Amino acid sequence: MKEIKLLDGGFGSQISKRIDRLIDDDVLWSSRLLSTNKAEVINTHLDFLQGLFVAGSNVISTNTYQASIDGFMKHLKLSESESYDLIKEAVDLARKAVSIYKSMNNSENTNILVAGSVGPYGAFLHDGSEYTGSYKDSDGKSIASGEDFQQTVKKCYKMNPDQLLAVGANCIAPGTVEQLFCDINVGEVYPMPLLVYPNSGEFYNKEMGWHGGEAGKPIENYIENWLNMGITWIGGCCRMYAENISKIQQVILKWQMQHSK
Ligand SMILES: [Zn+2]
Repeated sequence: MKEIKLLDGGFGSQISKRIDRLIDDDVLWSSRLLSTNKAEVINTHLDFLQGLFVAGSNVISTNTYQASIDGFMKHLKLSESESYDLIKEAVDLARKAVSIYKSMNNSENTNILVAGSVGPYGAFLHDGSEYTGSYKDSDGKSIASGEDFQQTVKKCYKMNPDQLLAVGANCIAPGTVEQLFCDINVGEVYPMPLLVYPNSGEFYNKEMGWHGGEAGKPIENYIENWLNMGITWIGGCCRMYAENISKIQQVILKWQMQHSK
């Protein structure tokens, strides 16, 4: 059976549901909760773990997209070493959620990986610049500095094939995935493992929050096509909740059954 890796969804989105408060306006975003509400950090990881199970591995990410030493020192009034420790504790909280999940479900042998989440520089700036085109040109095929997306990732992968598990894109609209990835492995003897971690397809700005775009278009409708294109790591970013990840999982399971013969 073809191994597909299912990742979690948008941590900040899911934890906002739990604490009934948006965290988009917080300069530290959900990473503040590493300090102020560890229980809900663990519960949010568990929300995703409950919905994750595919033949292969499952991956959850630490709640550290918006975490930085400078940010913690400035906004939590921590020392440098306390800030390091809080980032390290994010890994412990994710691992704790995995161990709770495994003991609750008698699934000691399930392979669940914890990935360290590192946000881009724009996330630290907290000015929405990671959404506004500084990181991706409007032609949908180039990266922020103008180089062609496909050529850049191919070059990165070929330079580090033993170190890179997969290459891909996070927080992009689902509708842009096919254009970015459809022909990336054409003619390659050793196709690159591809990863997609899309958002809900809505737009974000500080004044209006999340709005418009592909709002409400079901993510699960895209998945079969992505699997057929050779994308083997799939998760969700902003506004992708545990229920969306469960729906992605259902499509993956069906696809794996169809392709197991
Ligand atoms: Zn996102």
